Amino acid sequence: MNQYPTAYMPAPSLVFEGEGQVSSADFGDVYFSRASGVAETQHVFLKGNGLPERFAGRPQFTIGELGFGTGLNFLVAWRAFLETTGPKQHLHYISVEKFPLTREQLAQLHPESPLLAYYPLRLPGWHRIHFERCTLTLGFGEAEALFGGIDASVDAWFLDGFAPAKNPDMWSDGLFASLARLSAPDATVATFTAAGFVKRGLAAQGFAMEKVRGFAHKRDMLVGRRAGVLPQKPETVTSVLVVGAGIAGCTLAHALAERGVQVTLADKGMVAGGASGNPAAVLYPQLTKFFTPATAWHLTGYGFMLRQLARWRAQGLDFRWEQPGMLRLPREGEATLASLQLDPIIAHDISKAEAGEIAGTAVARDGAFLPQGSWIDPGALCRALAQHANITLREQWNIAAITRQGAPWQAAAALLPEIPMPIGRSAGQVSLLPMGAPVKCIVNHRGYVIPADGQCIVGATYDRSDFSCAVTEANHAENLQHAREALPDWQGDTALDGRVSIRATTPDKLPYVGRVHDGLYVSVGHGSRGMISAPLAAEVLAAQLVGEMVPLTPVLRAAINPLRRAPALP
Ligand code: SAM
Repeated sequence: MNQYPTAYMPAPSLVFEGEGQVSSADFGDVYFSRASGVAETQHVFLKGNGLPERFAGRPQFTIGELGFGTGLNFLVAWRAFLETTGPKQHLHYISVEKFPLTREQLAQLHPESPLLAYYPLRLPGWHRIHFERCTLTLGFGEAEALFGGIDASVDAWFLDGFAPAKNPDMWSDGLFASLARLSAPDATVATFTAAGFVKRGLAAQGFAMEKVRGFAHKRDMLVGRRAGVLPQKPETVTSVLVVGAGIAGCTLAHALAERGVQVTLADKGMVAGGASGNPAAVLYPQLTKFFTPATAWHLTGYGFMLRQLARWRAQGLDFRWEQPGMLRLPREGEATLASLQLDPIIAHDISKAEAGEIAGTAVARDGAFLPQGSWIDPGALCRALAQHANITLREQWNIAAITRQGAPWQAAAALLPEIPMPIGRSAGQVSLLPMGAPVKCIVNHRGYVIPADGQCIVGATYDRSDFSCAVTEANHAENLQHAREALPDWQGDTALDGRVSIRATTPDKLPYVGRVHDGLYVSVGHGSRGMISAPLAAEVLAAQLVGEMVPLTPVLRAAINPLRRAPALP
């Protein structure tokens, strides 16, 4: 057994029995009733929880589920919600799964479903997926640990792990205690099983349990209700000032605006005037030897951003997103992916020869390939995000002046100078080459090469001393030299143009995301990984500010806490 954390996610061994029926070879149990999966969901989980009637009049309703499996319960519940509720109502669906289906398995079951289009990368931890009037928060890992690490207020529970006799480990007292802790007042629970110890375990946690008629051949099943006192409603924000209109500010403003918050998005310059204004930016997750918090954060953010890009594009936002795949060539002596144990559809090791095939030109060494590797035009994306009806954009707005204007933001703005975290700076120059792409995919080495049409973008330098933002020939030469080391046949034109901007860096390569004081929150220090780190940070902050479940494990929450004790800056 490997003592270091890996990203390994075991896939279930499914037996497809025809007509959409499926069972687990590992557990010797079915995913849903052989009589009818949909009718079972409707009887056991919807009717058992008084749904869809209880959706009525609720602006938000939260369902919690044990055992996401094939997603059938989710799809049926979401459809029932869409069919019976109004345009201002929203469903939150929180589910966990220890053996997530692979994309291929899911494609066999729900080839046309939006679930397939937005299915998360198979990585341990929580994943957020936005659908029409519905937020799915899906945790991959052990149910007890996942539910033990979050805060939420669940109105209805679908307990759908395999039969207790076949999966006794899951139905633990620790899990029942978490269900009670996470239950809203008058939360209900329904499960297909009638096992005595499940009934007793839930009753011990304050659920009034009863046996009712089960589905199809099952005589009994269990339902229950847990009284409770309405906790004091935490204050949720209605208006927010977001300072800085780069990728971090724009994704945050948009995430809040979508939740109905009125946002003023201010920048001392223009939207995407800093590093987010580069002509192209790579979605680049760090691939380390083990699944460290930084790697978990960046890979989770990578998956989240890919889903967000697909959603924004489907919504008609106008921005460029290309997905030619990314080749990662490790530096001399750097580890391969073997120890990280990623799902190969996220990234897999490839030989120098295979890499050359994919790149369409010789490459210097073996590497890893990320089939979904992408680049975007970040400035266009930022501008598109800033156009939301709930966002008031204020460009060339000097924050320092606000305190003197008596604006409603005065108090928060006054706190700005108090941000206590160590933040470093690093200048990066990109070089623009007026030539057809020498490679067919993105190549990431000591820098990166992005094939755009008729243009090739090579970046970027790391300079910790010169912040003048002047484009220099020496920096162009450095970018080209790194590219030539990675691509030996590279003919390297001279750069025609360039751009320098400043990254905000942190000592442990993780951003600072969260509350600093009452009324002051930050999302800073995304370094050179803003395109994957900032959108996830935006989701986390927006969730925190409106009182939604924050989709992070305690380890990741601690890792990005702005008040953490980060090592000193080098
Ligand atoms: N609700 C699912 C659907 O709509 O397809 C069917 C769920 S199936 C009956 C039970 C699921 O619980 C399986 O996918 C199984 O992998 C998952 N499971 C079993 N033990 C678990 C555990 N300890 N933690 C999380 N998930 C678990």
